[in-house]
Amino acid sequence: MTFVVGLDDPVFVAGHRGLVGSAIVRRLEAEGHRNVLTATRSELDLRDQGAVAGWLSANQPRAVYLVAGTVGGILANSTRPAEFLYDNLMIHANVIEAARHAGVERLLYLGSSCIYPRLADQPIVESALLTGALEPTNEAYAVAKIAGIKMCDAYRSQYGCRFISAMPTNLYGPNDNFDLRSSHVLPALIRKFDDARRSGEGAVTVWGTGTPRREFLHVDDLASACVFLMEHYDQPGQINIGYGEDVAISDLAGMVRDVVHPTAEIVYDSTKPDGTPRKLLDSTRLQELGWRPSIGLEQGVASTYEWYLQHAGELR
Ligand code: GDP
Repeated sequence: MTFVVGLDDPVFVAGHRGLVGSAIVRRLEAEGHRNVLTATRSELDLRDQGAVAGWLSANQPRAVYLVAGTVGGILANSTRPAEFLYDNLMIHANVIEAARHAGVERLLYLGSSCIYPRLADQPIVESALLTGALEPTNEAYAVAKIAGIKMCDAYRSQYGCRFISAMPTNLYGPNDNFDLRSSHVLPALIRKFDDARRSGEGAVTVWGTGTPRREFLHVDDLASACVFLMEHYDQPGQINIGYGEDVAISDLAGMVRDVVHPTAEIVYDSTKPDGTPRKLLDSTRLQELGWRPSIGLEQGVASTYEWYLQHAGELR
């Protein structure tokens, strides 16, 4: 079942500027791939059906990593639902349909753990999909992501396309979004504690109650899992990619504080939403295929903070 992508074969990474896409490009290049194709938004608007069809037929990639999309944390998701639905539905539909026409041999579509019901049993197994109501703060994004999984499955069953779906847990690492209005919690905390350290502020505000639990996977581990799945996995339905352990947001806040600004006091703003109470994926299927993460959370927070310090000037 192994699918070998030759080092000179064209491989398209859709979404290469983002947290995930940039990590997949780094990983492929580190493995020696010499023909990794990318396109910036101004070169190729993935929401434009004609442009996407033309680009894929001209460039003829053998494999596609579909990791592009409009993404964001709990606030962006709940205040911009129309954008999250429209952009993501269009991007998934256009790339998947154009990949079929261009004869792409393999496509990996990346979703998100928010596709699972808000109150799914923990850890969340793949079969929990569509068994209950979604978390309202990210429902628009989740609905678009579920449509993408169903598209891959439909293209597999109707057209025989070897398109696969993988669902990562919460991700973090280099090239994350550190903008407090749209970021996820881990980069937001790095930024908040660093801002407080720089300005001499003694307290940092953490949204919600601190009790929700989340699982965090370093994006370099995710990229390694995606490349592994492209080569070793070829089945319908989605496969989870998790770290295997979760932490309370209050524990995460303490961990970031210890790395960034150890004397800071943590204050909780319970007027902000908590979102899903717990989100831990069951990644047994992936582990049984032989893949394991290698970057622990404390190590990952420290290295991401190092990256942030080197790039903070560009991000402000
Ligand atoms: P989610 O996993 O989809 O809920 O997305 P987030 O990463 O945005 O939020 C995870 C949890 O962290 C939620 O309970 C948030 O309320 C909490 N949180 C605490 N402080 C922050 C913050 O400064 N930014 C964000 N985005 N979330 C925060």
